[in-house]
Amino acid sequence: MDIKPDKHEKMETRASRKKKSVIGFFNVCKFYGESDAIVDVSFTISKDDFALITGPSGAGKSTVIRIIYMGETISSGSVIVDGMNLLRITRPQVPLLRRKIGVIFQDFKLIPSKTVFGNVALVLEAAGVRSKNIIHDKVMSVLETVGIGDRAASYPPTLSGGEQQRVAVARAMVGEPKIILADEPTASLDPEAADAIYQLLQDVHARGTTVVVTTHDLNLLEKGGTRVIHLKSGRMVSIVNQDVWNGL
Ligand code: ADP
Repeated sequence: MDIKPDKHEKMETRASRKKKSVIGFFNVCKFYGESDAIVDVSFTISKDDFALITGPSGAGKSTVIRIIYMGETISSGSVIVDGMNLLRITRPQVPLLRRKIGVIFQDFKLIPSKTVFGNVALVLEAAGVRSKNIIHDKVMSVLETVGIGDRAASYPPTLSGGEQQRVAVARAMVGEPKIILADEPTASLDPEAADAIYQLLQDVHARGTTVVVTTHDLNLLEKGGTRVIHLKSGRMVSIVNQDVWNGL
């Protein structure tokens, strides 16, 4: 593993990183009653980053992800996502923000009563795409990309965990979001399926999407990423840049 602490951080001025950043956390705290989920967390993620948010269970990783897609509000500090200040966002702007973001969860969160095709098509339908032909072509194209085109008519419960997570990746990709957030996307999978999903996320990143992945699995660091944000007990303990892709 080749981790070089803050190498880029020193070369880049803070201003230049801020300019390129699509996600910025500035002294963010999130409290649930007496309990601190995250405390004084500050980082930026650039457009071209594949960022890993690591730390043990309870470190605050999922809270960070939920804050980015506005599944959660913050207690203090500020958060900017693609130029939108989440504290100032109006209710009609929330769907606009969410269209910029695709989200992947550990437990897939597919609708069991809808086919694979239907699960992915839902994103386009919700975004107001009316043309059945356009929906068909886009959905089949992403299903092919994630290697599951032949299961379009299947229902999620008939698929393996790895196949279900491929569907979830397709669902996250189909709206062509700027950012993909993946919260412990490989934690429920066997090592082979986990590697395949991680590779898919790297492919998505290579096509120009900002990718943010949370994981408690430090082995994932060896598979590559450009920026690693390490949390512990809700606090940021380090932020480093990895220059190289170590590959699978
Ligand atoms: P991680 O994803 O790293 O496991 P989380 O972000 O899920 O960590 O949780 C961070 C802390 O916040 C934990 O102590 C957790 O119990 C607490 N927490 C998270 N969500 C809630 C909630 N909805 N209500 C109360 N406490 C919560």
